[in-house]
Amino acid sequence: MAEREIAHEVSEQGERHREQALDSLIGQEELAGLLRRMIERDRLPHALLFHGPPQVGKRSMAYALVRRLECHEGGEDFDCACRVCRKLRRGSWYDLTELAPETKGQRMIRVETIREKEDFLAMMPLEGRRRFLLIHDADRMNAEASNAFLKTLEEPPAHLHIVLLTDRWSALSETIRSRCTALRFRSVERSRLAEWLREMAGGDPVQNSLLAALAEGSPGRALELLHSDILARRQQALESFRTFTEQGYRALFKTAYELNQASADDPAEMLWFLLSYSRDMLVTRVAPNAAADLLINADLTDNVSAESERQSTAGLLAALEKIAAGFSWSGRMVNRQLALENLLLDVGAARRPL
Ligand SMILES: [Zn+2]
Repeated sequence: MAEREIAHEVSEQGERHREQALDSLIGQEELAGLLRRMIERDRLPHALLFHGPPQVGKRSMAYALVRRLECHEGGEDFDCACRVCRKLRRGSWYDLTELAPETKGQRMIRVETIREKEDFLAMMPLEGRRRFLLIHDADRMNAEASNAFLKTLEEPPAHLHIVLLTDRWSALSETIRSRCTALRFRSVERSRLAEWLREMAGGDPVQNSLLAALAEGSPGRALELLHSDILARRQQALESFRTFTEQGYRALFKTAYELNQASADDPAEMLWFLLSYSRDMLVTRVAPNAAADLLINADLTDNVSAESERQSTAGLLAALEKIAAGFSWSGRMVNRQLALENLLLDVGAARRPL
């Protein structure tokens, strides 16, 4: 299978990527300002490299940049109905082409795909003033593909703008990196992200703050979580865990069973719930006055506080370390029921009642 042309898939994932304006991306104002100044001074580099954590707005920024340059109205209006914006939204703007790794197999961008695009890139734009190439997950170009692409990257035609996107800066070859102007995207501060969620969808402040923490600074992830049942899963996991912390080893097998049932899809997520809860207990223990602002599970303050009072600081810290160690098996094929029983045994042994 040839590498997929991802226009349609991107549309299905969410039109919002394609409807952003440069200045509308939360947390990336500095980069947007930089790009705007480059455009105003006619100094926009022909090869840009957007890198940073997943789902912080790299893709949206790339589309916003294309819109800013090509939209007949300046690309600031989300709902702009000009011909360019309508086509970009549908993924049918002829002068924009996108590459991404294959969805199956090794998930690489192969040299054949790069070669197939060479003619397109060399030709003059058909519909707009420029031609654009976006390469998603650019670190997935294999060595041969990278070498083939270098020629285009070193001497891009005057009408061509290339944007490489990657979550994995270090996986990209130094040769590629050094030929691009790199822009580093950052994750968004939790309180800012919670506020943004409120603006987007309303909702309860405690819940928004929790979702922002779960999303680890990524607006794209936060929106996904908002429409998922992650809060119910967290509730279930923490209720089971609390049964264990209250009843001790008597509840060990039952708790391990319930946690395993609750985490069939993603054991790392379940461990994250336990870790965040244990971390909250530790924070409450060492900084009781400041804790209210720092808690991740702010809706469970009373439980966290009551439990942390029964444990020594050293015990809470040791238990936290045992849970963190669980991430080493969470991605592997192991007997999870057994692994969870061991984890709870370790946590139980680590805790030190006062
Ligand atoms: Zn427009």
